Amino acid sequence: MKRLTILGATGSIGGSTIDVVRRHPERYEIFALTAHSRVRRLLEQIRLTRPRVVVVGSAAAADELARLFTRDDPRPEIRHGEAALCEVASAPETDAVMAAIVGAAGLAPTLAAARSGKQVLLANKEALVMSGALFMDAVETGGASLLPIDSEHNAVFQALPRDFDRRPAASGVRRILLTASGGPFRTLSPALLADITPEQACAHPNWVMGRKISVDSATMMNKGLEVIEAHWLFGAEADAIQVVVHPQSVIHSMVEYADGSVIAQLGNPDMRTPIAHALAHPERIESGVAALDLFSIARLEFEAPDIERFPCLGLAYQALRAGGSAAAVLNAANEVAVDAFLAGRLAFTGISEVCRSVLERIGTGTVRCMQDVFEADSAARRQALALIPG
Ligand code: NAD
Ligand code: MG
Repeated sequence: MKRLTILGATGSIGGSTIDVVRRHPERYEIFALTAHSRVRRLLEQIRLTRPRVVVVGSAAAADELARLFTRDDPRPEIRHGEAALCEVASAPETDAVMAAIVGAAGLAPTLAAARSGKQVLLANKEALVMSGALFMDAVETGGASLLPIDSEHNAVFQALPRDFDRRPAASGVRRILLTASGGPFRTLSPALLADITPEQACAHPNWVMGRKISVDSATMMNKGLEVIEAHWLFGAEADAIQVVVHPQSVIHSMVEYADGSVIAQLGNPDMRTPIAHALAHPERIESGVAALDLFSIARLEFEAPDIERFPCLGLAYQALRAGGSAAAVLNAANEVAVDAFLAGRLAFTGISEVCRSVLERIGTGTVRCMQDVFEADSAARRQALALIPG
């Protein structure tokens, strides 16, 4: 039995994880589930998975959840706050942690899981973007193992040699080819980008995801963050990570080798595939995902990314090359800008403008410890807020 903690259980990745886990009751049991505020959804999940502990965002949410229990419900211990998140991520009663809290809020508990040597199933890309070097150190010194859930990185992981040790050249790897759907606005006239609404931005053509990552997919900041994520996971330099726009989202990414071979991982765009892959690794289990129907897909297309239309992608490469705290600065500015866009306070095109200005004004700084990361994050958030009207 593998004992699991699911951080961010009530989100899109959390829900898909529970779906896969419930198909294999003989393999997995849930130690802890966490949710920020959606306690009704959490209660449904408690009924389905019977965790020992749950963690919510506040004392008020904890009280609300406690009041919802009926006589027949399982009664997990209810805790709240960041310290409790870190504790369930590092508790001796759990073997593996699904890190699926969105944004910078996921960093501390994901780091706690890495430091305590857990198997970390990493969906939260922001942890690596903000603090890649420190995070990878924590994985190593903690004796943790890291399995990527982000579909592109999971695909790359599957296409790399089993004994890959983050030295691409030593394994004959020339480039990592990260595929991108291009999001909902790949072919929209640039003149119309300014008027895009949150609902349009969140309607992704191929994937159903949380709102923040959906907006990031529409600006292609998501792909930029993934380039940074790939750098830390696989030790590849910026020049050896190529983004390939592939509108069908059937190839989830590829690895190009020195001999000219390109190895791709294909599948339907359903996160239950990478989740099942990581949960069972190195075995393979049923995920509930339908078989890929190549005859109905018929054709796969590829194009180069358009950096003019999607400036966020260029900014992410710029931050990766700058090193230090630049990626944390970019990530924080983007989180503030996306929040403001979702709240109707910033135009869609304002997201990249805010990110660019914040990156220019704050630039990069040396990162020696997590405190440096948190300071860069706060400074960038303050600067971004100052740039957003209202
Ligand atoms: P989501 O918005 O659907 O869910 C987010 C989860 O985080 C929820 O359970 C929520 O309760 C929790 N949460 C939010 N704010 C929190 C806070 N301040 N403190 C504690 N918990 C908080 O997001 P998602 O789409 O499931 O994405 C989760 C992570 O996985 C993101 O980092 C995203 O980039 C990454 N990811 C998602 C997908 C996808 O297909 N959805 C694919 C690849 C990577
Ligand atoms: Mg992805």
